[in-house]
Amino acid sequence: MRKYVIMGVQGSGKGTQARLLAERYDLVHISVGDIFRWNVKQHTKLGAQVRRIMASGELVGDDLVEAVVRKRLDEHDWNYGFIVDGFPRNGAQAEFFLESYDIDGVIHLDMPDTEVRRRVLARRLCSRCGLDYNLIASRPAVEDVCDVCGGRLVAREDDTEEALAVRLREYHEKTRPVLDLFRRKEYVVSVDATRTPAEVHEAIREPLGLTD
Ligand code: AMP
Repeated sequence: MRKYVIMGVQGSGKGTQARLLAERYDLVHISVGDIFRWNVKQHTKLGAQVRRIMASGELVGDDLVEAVVRKRLDEHDWNYGFIVDGFPRNGAQAEFFLESYDIDGVIHLDMPDTEVRRRVLARRLCSRCGLDYNLIASRPAVEDVCDVCGGRLVAREDDTEEALAVRLREYHEKTRPVLDLFRRKEYVVSVDATRTPAEVHEAIREPLGLTD
């Protein structure tokens, strides 16, 4: 059983790396941001509660976030383990998490803010199937159209200059200290996230002992 947390500022490739690890090692990928986005799209009560907060780049309240994480992990469909992406993001969430679950490692994707801005503002998402694109690294064959399902590509509602500035501030003020807390417990593997997805994936595997 392998239990990991992946951390990094928005646009550092958390979702991509979590998916690569999940596929290769049969882990369940749990993205709190994806769960919230699904709820917004489906117009659920939870979606209505988080939509405006997310669009502004602020963090959703701890009670809602912790309930979502607990509910998801209580499904116990993670026979080989899980990788949690985008959680914990502040000290209170880290305490809640460490009280409830043991973790085997924290993966930290390190990227300077200047590169984050360049990437996040170029990020697009298929409005139909949810596939990720990036106008710098992975452009669609036809502008604004998904290669796989033909859906329309859109920017995330929170990928704007204003929301990004708020998210970067939230990250440095609230999430960075969580990383320091994990570091004191020697859980953290830090990798340079400015390289290609395949290179970053390789750099993560070795220090975690994932050699197969
Ligand atoms: P992400 O996709 O991880 O960038 O998350 C998108 C947005 O969802 C964030 O900007 C927050 O508004 C909200 N969110 C996701 N995870 C958390 C969390 N652990 N704590 C608070 N808010 C979160």
